[in-house]
Amino acid sequence: MRIILLGAPGSGKGTQGDLVTRKYGFPRISTGDLLRAAVQAKSPIGMKAKAVMDSGELVKDDIVNALVKERISEEDCRRGYVLDGFPRTILQGEALESLDRDRPEIAVDIRVDEDEVVARLSSRRICGGCGSVFNLREDPDAATCEKCGGELIQRSDDRVEVIRERLRVYKEQTEPLIDYYKERDCYFAVDGARVVEAVFADVAAFIEKKMDFFGQEKRIG
Ligand code: AMP
Repeated sequence: MRIILLGAPGSGKGTQGDLVTRKYGFPRISTGDLLRAAVQAKSPIGMKAKAVMDSGELVKDDIVNALVKERISEEDCRRGYVLDGFPRTILQGEALESLDRDRPEIAVDIRVDEDEVVARLSSRRICGGCGSVFNLREDPDAATCEKCGGELIQRSDDRVEVIRERLRVYKEQTEPLIDYYKERDCYFAVDGARVVEAVFADVAAFIEKKMDFFGQEKRIG
């Protein structure tokens, strides 16, 4: 099964994706993480992507499509996978379909209103050591990572002006995917403004309903 997490930046796709991985064993594939790794490694893709990411715009479809193609061909994706931040355009959705045809697909849209997204992202901090995510709203004094002691840093695209641009781009280029997946009868919207566990309860119920429908085993591994 392929689980696509739709939802604006900051809606909780990473958190819900990790919970899906833990419960069902499908690896979470985040194109944002793949691109940030390329930027850090100073690879040719990373060099091209950095300025685009820092401005809140989308990296070119052919670059992200190639990253996803390579990643989903790995062995751990055989039973299925969760996509976080991909597809972000109709063209990417179509590319995905042709890269991995006939795999049952569902799209879970995590809905959170814009003011909440801005508040969440502008107070988000990432550990420079292990990548753990913290939020200054929950932990105003956090300065170092409680897991590894690493320094907490703000993603360069989590500044308010870039967040607004990312939201604009989401509306313009990614929201059309809602109708795209509705037409394919695999779309589910969930209220993402609630506590993580409540959101996940709805997400898991939908996944299991679809697993039953497609005859997919729920076991991990
Ligand atoms: P994210 O971590 O998902 O918020 O992604 C961070 C940034 O990486 C985005 O603002 C885009 O610049 C870029 N990016 C991530 N995924 C995609 C994608 N599927 N298509 C184009 N650009 C992407």
